[in-house]
Amino acid sequence: MTSKKLVLIVVDGMTPAAFERAVESGRAPALALLAEHGAYRRATSVFPSLTPVCLSSIVTGAGPDVHHIPHLVWWHRQERRIVEYGSSFAALRAAGMAQSITDTIFNMNAEHLARDAVTVYEALEDGGLVTAAVNITCYRGRTKHLPVLPWVTKAAYGPKRFFFYSLFESDQTGAPFAVRNRAGGSIDVYAAAVGRWLVTRDGFDFLAYYLSDFDYASHAHGPEGAEDVALVRTDAAIQTLLDAAGGADEFLDRYAVILHSDHGQTTVGRAAQLELPLASHADSIVVTASNRAGQVYLLPDARVDAATLARALDAEPSVETTLRLEGGEAVARRAGEELRFRRAADGWETTGDASILDYPDAFHRTWSALANPNAGELLISAAEGWEFVDIGGRHHAGGGSHGSLVEGDSIVPVLTVGVDAPIERITDVTPAVLAHFTRARVA
Ligand SMILES: [Zn+2]
Repeated sequence: MTSKKLVLIVVDGMTPAAFERAVESGRAPALALLAEHGAYRRATSVFPSLTPVCLSSIVTGAGPDVHHIPHLVWWHRQERRIVEYGSSFAALRAAGMAQSITDTIFNMNAEHLARDAVTVYEALEDGGLVTAAVNITCYRGRTKHLPVLPWVTKAAYGPKRFFFYSLFESDQTGAPFAVRNRAGGSIDVYAAAVGRWLVTRDGFDFLAYYLSDFDYASHAHGPEGAEDVALVRTDAAIQTLLDAAGGADEFLDRYAVILHSDHGQTTVGRAAQLELPLASHADSIVVTASNRAGQVYLLPDARVDAATLARALDAEPSVETTLRLEGGEAVARRAGEELRFRRAADGWETTGDASILDYPDAFHRTWSALANPNAGELLISAAEGWEFVDIGGRHHAGGGSHGSLVEGDSIVPVLTVGVDAPIERITDVTPAVLAHFTRARVA
């Protein structure tokens, strides 16, 4: 018996509420069609709930402790420099445009993503299957690809069929040029053109189909405003796949589907500069903050420790909870109160008020974030309604954002069609994909 092929659709930043309304309202016929044939549930993202961390977690099936991507922006201890994956255009410029573009397009996969984390493309292609990826920022595979643009000469290793914002195209599809022309809403149009080409040719066993326009609209217009601005476009990009197969029935005959988002979004009204309450320690630390999560790194000669920094943030209204490691334990601090926890044989051993970490799946994902060797010594989760200004001075106050531990940033919709998998965390997706193909092979 051979298994159905599988399409993984990741809609960046779509909340469960947005997904559920889209299906019920009739405004998203492709999503509704898939929902009608599938099983729906909600699942939990990782911490920080920011796209590079989330997509790396989805594609490797493991948390930041394993894949080592810590944030949108972080301090590279060995190279003593900021890595910035694109908090904003201004942040890319502040971190050095050429370096930031290299970090985002090449280094995130070639150097920062842990060697011993295995991507879904690597695992499936090692088993003889053909994988494809469209626009997803975690793309590491075994096939060398040269950029399409003649003035970029560095190669990247991706899946056999690899399409990345018109920079890498393993096949000529005739898709419109789409390098970062996000404001024009053309990114998902590009994805759809490539998706149509791939499905028409049935050119893969596994396809990761990543749609980012919804998240972009949600940052600008808030999580509810995005439904007016971007939902129709997101749905059209999914409908294109169904049409390319000759209709929904034909599509579902050929493909199983997992559709989900990487994180949620919540409304933000105010922005804070995380450096300010820590200013008296400025020569001992590096602060990296963006969206609704921050990190503080201690420099080698720091004259302060993480506990002191955590106390210094007690009165800061934008900070809800801080996290640090201390003597083999994790310490969560909120409103001056502390909770200590560590792994135990059957769960977690805690000391202190457990309600401090009253967030979805909080012990598991904060532990994973703290165990990442690229994470700061102090991790910060923003309070509801607040965002941290990035290194370019930008924020989304008046719109939407994500990154924190709160439920709205952390819970995602998951729809499975033809895949029997109890996905509870976004890190369960790749194991479900691998099991789907293995089961068929054994049977
Ligand atoms: Zn986002």
